Amino acid sequence: MLIVKKFGGSSVANKERVFNVARRIVEDYKEGHQVVVVLSAQGDTTDLLLEKAREINKNPSRREMDMFLSTGEQQSVALMAMALQSIGYPAISLNAYQVGMHTSSVYSNARLKRIDQERIMSELERNNIILVTGFQGINRYEDITTLGRGGSDTTAVALAAALKADRCEIYTDVEGVYTADPRVVPNARKLDEITYDEMLELASLGAKVLHNRSVELAKKYGVELVVRSSLSQAEGTIVKEECKMEKMLVSGVAADKNVARIAVIGIKDEPGKAFELFSLLAKKNINVDIILQSIGRGRSKDISFTTSRDNLEEALSIIHENLERISGERVEYDEQVAKVSVVGAGMASNSGVASLMFEALFDANINIKMISTSEIKISVLINEKDTEEAMNAIHESFKLFK
Ligand code: ASP
Ligand code: MG
Repeated sequence: MLIVKKFGGSSVANKERVFNVARRIVEDYKEGHQVVVVLSAQGDTTDLLLEKAREINKNPSRREMDMFLSTGEQQSVALMAMALQSIGYPAISLNAYQVGMHTSSVYSNARLKRIDQERIMSELERNNIILVTGFQGINRYEDITTLGRGGSDTTAVALAAALKADRCEIYTDVEGVYTADPRVVPNARKLDEITYDEMLELASLGAKVLHNRSVELAKKYGVELVVRSSLSQAEGTIVKEECKMEKMLVSGVAADKNVARIAVIGIKDEPGKAFELFSLLAKKNINVDIILQSIGRGRSKDISFTTSRDNLEEALSIIHENLERISGERVEYDEQVAKVSVVGAGMASNSGVASLMFEALFDANINIKMISTSEIKISVLINEKDTEEAMNAIHESFKLFK
């Protein structure tokens, strides 16, 4: 079997953990499997590198930043090769350039396009355990790029797809994907399985277990993933196309506090105004999430929407500058909000999920400010201070607990 294993930064944070991972790699190798391992930078190395760069230049060029950040992963793979060699196993580390991990040219947020096989295949033929740097690639200028924070997951899935691996395992410091963040919802439990679509929603809702793109790629190429802990032998969560074992309406509750709501009041009730407003934001690459337009009151209407808090200031200033063009009277905003969502493939074919969620919030006396739904997700915007209570109430009412 060819197995791709990915270990996150916390799994290789120090000497003990490096050897712990080395032993887990060896388990498969000893059984005669071919093993390709993707590693992240140790512990909070990437954060520290970011800080260090900003001490030198507050606004560093993205090219140099990628050149710099990619060193974290290079350290990890070389150290792991040394660890494996020290316990008597043949291992070789390779960076993105050596493998040939080709990406788009956008620095700091590059997309993987193609992975060369030759080097990896020839090292596997030599019976080497291969350690590949996560998170990085090379672009057509032969410059180093990075895939965005958390991007090592994507490296692993892309490698598994390219090499047609038999297994792709993502090791982290939690035992899998949970019905909710266990730090917020003590009753949360680990899921045995989850679909790609559910996982995608959860990942984009801020559940930090898997990088968004990695799930997209896994779905696209049908790579079944296992998310599990490097610190225990627990089974983990399988991410795949369809789940049969658990016929649950909802598989998880997630919250996102990086949300702000902006409302433009008194917009002329005529065609083209929403277009005007959102094209201004789109031009500045400001993503909007939930959008709500009030019913026209004869002459005017209100449009409110949410965006991430990091975008709030810029969004406000664009709207203020163009208020006349949008024909709005004034702008209001609220930063003390959070988005709470339930995700479940089962809701596509079941009614009553929304009402159950709203009932839970009503029972907890939590006011809903905005609502949005998709096939497999319902999100509500509430006051930030109610987040934890809302999550617990919803989790309870869907009986997602242990
Ligand atoms: N080291 C990178 C980060 O911290 C990539 C990763 O961990 O997946 O974002
Ligand atoms: Mg990660």
